[in-house]
Amino acid sequence: MSTTQSDATAGSLTVPCPSCHKWNRIDAARATAGPKCGACGAAIPLDQPMHLDDTSFDRVIAASTLPVMVDFYADWCGPCKMMAPAVDQLARASAGTALVAKLDTEAAPRTAQRFNIRGIPTVIVFRGGREAKRQSGAMPFGALRAMLGD
Ligand SMILES: [Zn+2]
Repeated sequence: MSTTQSDATAGSLTVPCPSCHKWNRIDAARATAGPKCGACGAAIPLDQPMHLDDTSFDRVIAASTLPVMVDFYADWCGPCKMMAPAVDQLARASAGTALVAKLDTEAAPRTAQRFNIRGIPTVIVFRGGREAKRQSGAMPFGALRAMLGD
């Protein structure tokens, strides 16, 4: 990580449009300004968790320069459901500074297996395309937010 970075922006996110699935690069500064898809004009809500799958996961992680937090969960998992409101809250709180995402481990088994997800929920924070932090078990909002801090 460079300390002399002169980029005017604080980073960017590269995410698929939820409507047409075209890829969009969104500067951090625009993340809270109601960003829209450059191809179809649909809203790309970055203040709520973005759902990733086996197809979109790698590119979002590799191409986004903001930290990406992924909640590996499943619909049948009680603790995941308990934690979901805190994940939603974190997405609202970190729009523009980080991307909060969710990966359904049943719908995206390849990615879950690749990251050796044994228990859910498991939360992984990626920085610069690499795993930086990992924690398993349901966490309250404060603990989730702390994972995005230093
Ligand atoms: Zn679109």
